Amino acid sequence: MSRMTGVGVSSGRAAGPIVRVADPLPEPAATPAPADPAAEAARIRPAADAVSEGLFQRAAKVGGDAKAVLETTAAMAMDPALTSQAEQLVATRSLPASRAVFEAANGFADALRAAGGYMAERARDVHDVRDRIIASIEGITPPGVPEITEPSVLIARDLAPADTADLDPELVLALVTEEGGPTSHTAILARALGIPAVVAVRGVLDAAASGATVDGDEGTVELSEAAVAARAAERTEHADWDGVGRTADDAPVKVLANVGSATDSTAAVEAGAQGVGLFRTEFCYLGADEEPDVATQRAAYAEVLAPFAGKPVVVRTLDAGADKPLAFLDMGVEPNPALGVRGLRVAFDRPDLLDTQIEAIAGAAQDSGAEVSVMAPMVATADEAAWFAERARAGGIDRVGVMIEVPAAALSAAEILQAVDFVSIGTNDLAQYVFAADRMAGALAGLNDPWQPALLRLIGMVGEAGRLVDKSVGVCGEAASDPHLAGVLAGLGVTSLSMNAPAVRAVGAALAQHPLDTFRKAARAALEAPSAAAARHTTKTTLA
Ligand code: PEP
Ligand code: MG
Repeated sequence: MSRMTGVGVSSGRAAGPIVRVADPLPEPAATPAPADPAAEAARIRPAADAVSEGLFQRAAKVGGDAKAVLETTAAMAMDPALTSQAEQLVATRSLPASRAVFEAANGFADALRAAGGYMAERARDVHDVRDRIIASIEGITPPGVPEITEPSVLIARDLAPADTADLDPELVLALVTEEGGPTSHTAILARALGIPAVVAVRGVLDAAASGATVDGDEGTVELSEAAVAARAAERTEHADWDGVGRTADDAPVKVLANVGSATDSTAAVEAGAQGVGLFRTEFCYLGADEEPDVATQRAAYAEVLAPFAGKPVVVRTLDAGADKPLAFLDMGVEPNPALGVRGLRVAFDRPDLLDTQIEAIAGAAQDSGAEVSVMAPMVATADEAAWFAERARAGGIDRVGVMIEVPAAALSAAEILQAVDFVSIGTNDLAQYVFAADRMAGALAGLNDPWQPALLRLIGMVGEAGRLVDKSVGVCGEAASDPHLAGVLAGLGVTSLSMNAPAVRAVGAALAQHPLDTFRKAARAALEAPSAAAARHTTKTTLA
């Protein structure tokens, strides 16, 4: 038996036989030149159509996000820009069809990667489509998840959205990936399915075992044959929750949802979220070529807010810039986008953008009846917070906050809280900036682990600053969706947790299990732990 360590990103423990997800195809050769280039080029479009058709068929059998993911990938496969570029490469450079698709798709993927942020994440999807079309041309098995016939542990290099969109949760006991980080698609998916997952397990693909026991809390994978026989899964318990976020002794900790669309809002209401702690408005505009006017923005926001009439919703102003490029912003190229003009920094040069958005949000609040607050992303100083608060209040917003996702802001929480009504900690970015570790880099996933004691210490400082002035301190990064961490965050002074809808019930139930003092004790122990793994472990013991 061998034990491997990675980063646990979704809690629970499960054991079962291993199913390996096929690796991407090898790079197709650029030779031999086709004897009949026209006939060779003619192989591309039918192959792309077949891929697209297959994905649409899978999409027809599922609903919700899975359907959307599969349809998007299907549409990408039949994008005429991709196929005609590949056909041209056959004609002009005498490349075999597979090689031409490979080069054309890589060109698109490179352009997306250069754009950074969300666009860069789409590069993974283009590679997935590329490999499916090449497999179709070559008549070989496409990469991705093979058919799963019995409950199994899925092991992959990383998972693309189309790999996982229609996975049957009854048949997937756990996910393990060699790459990926806490905010990767695999991590989000596993939490959504309520199954254990460990990412960034170096070398797991090369291990020869046929069974595995996965511990998403400890971040370990034990490879053995015995696990196949055991085939026991302790799924994350979604214990009963009465829908009110509070500890066992009634200290309130609101359980809120992160949303980016009306579909998300509906799912959040169904999950029992008490409100919205983060509405990522930039999701409404990722495809827009021009700045949407006030009426367009107002209507888009009102649609997302409507399911939460009478409930609290925190709307975040545009978190755009070089890292999350919006076509209409035209910010130019930055050498180091994560440290560049992003979030609120965009508004310093373009306050008109902020004013337009505030006007639209205030209007949408009236239209929807939601109790709307507004917060700014990527705030670094108390001056910036005050600048934003003044503008938002002048635009008719009563309750104004800022995100704490830059270490300087965490260190200045007391000063910042003088200028605003609340703060919300974005642990995804705060971790990346505290550890100087790109949040998208699988190799650095261990540093972006929300259980890292240094990150918890910063959260504790912000919690204490909030407690002293009796203002609320939320967490709206991925850290908030870990039910085992929820109590520790409450113990550090966090008064609301905001997460993707599927995590809501488990987090609500976890908070209700112990009184606040027990969570404070667990938090103290986690702060003193020498590592993220030790913090997890000591919390488990304290809260057992
Ligand atoms: C965060 O950084 O934790 C956060 C919630 O913002 P985003 O993930 O949108 O950058
Ligand atoms: Mg952020």
